[in-house]
Amino acid sequence: MKKIAVIGAGTMGNGIAHVFAQNGFEVNLIDISQNALDNALNTITKNLMRLLSKEKISEDIKNSTLENITTYTAIADGVKDVDLVVEAATENLDLKLEIFKTIAEATADHVILASNTSSISITKIAAVTGRADKVIGMHFMNPVPIMKLVEIIRGYSTSDETTSSIMDLSKKLNKIPLEVNDYPGFVANRILMPMLNEAIETLYNGVAGVYEIDNVMKLGMGHPMGPLELADFIGLDVCLSILNVMYDGFKNPKYAPCPLLVNMVEAGKLGKKSGEGFYDYSEHRKAEKVSKQFL
Ligand code: NAD
Repeated sequence: MKKIAVIGAGTMGNGIAHVFAQNGFEVNLIDISQNALDNALNTITKNLMRLLSKEKISEDIKNSTLENITTYTAIADGVKDVDLVVEAATENLDLKLEIFKTIAEATADHVILASNTSSISITKIAAVTGRADKVIGMHFMNPVPIMKLVEIIRGYSTSDETTSSIMDLSKKLNKIPLEVNDYPGFVANRILMPMLNEAIETLYNGVAGVYEIDNVMKLGMGHPMGPLELADFIGLDVCLSILNVMYDGFKNPKYAPCPLLVNMVEAGKLGKKSGEGFYDYSEHRKAEKVSKQFL
């Protein structure tokens, strides 16, 4: 594989494009928003400059990485002649089904179609393509240039050949691929999200405050980030949506999202990206004060 299309130039898409381009692949980065494409190129340039200043890459690699990326606003133009498509557009089932229908028609039959979805069924996405054996999950972690793992998700019909080809490709990106089957939450979120939800439930029940819950897990369990801080970083709306996918998929109350999480999302407190979640990222630090009331 030489030429890759990445659909979606947001948080994940820019990181995925960066990693492929830095490892010598030609990348067509596609987004419906020109603004998102401009921001993605700025972020990639900034991240490359940081790597250069730390002497982790050479000036030549920085330049070739940027030269390897071409941007497009139309999917049909950007996926022409590519060997692989990695979709990293907004997490929305209807949108992803539409994109996969389009790319299945616009690419040759042998082209593998991968999705970076955090929670949508790969089997469901594959069903609209007419080549389910060539559809697979390639779940990169945020921030993509730093995190080693790629969770490789085999849909119900994904072939051995597609899986081994994507496992090999991930190693060429200096990542560590781990193969898992397609059930709600896959492995990473199936284990992570109930832990984050339980931390929120612990706060909701007044057992301890934000500071105490996070630091019990950091100082006692060696976690680099506390669960509430991590939920803020991921986005509380994203956590809620993944928990709902698991709750609906397994029909098991153990995945039911905590009412405090639901309330915070409804109030627009989405974590770091909205300026407030369990922590306050603005000046008045309301969220932390509220949590102290439970002490
Ligand atoms: P994001 O909102 O930062 O970016 C999504 C981008 O998709 C936007 O720039 C948007 O303009 C673009 N887009 C929307 N419709 C499009 C279309 N029809 N064609 C082309 N581009 C389109 O989202 P994100 O956080 O980068 O998430 C992308 C995917 O990665 C989601 O499936 C998400 O579940 C998954 N994911 C996210 C994270 C994370 O931590 N953010 C981690 C792992 C996986």
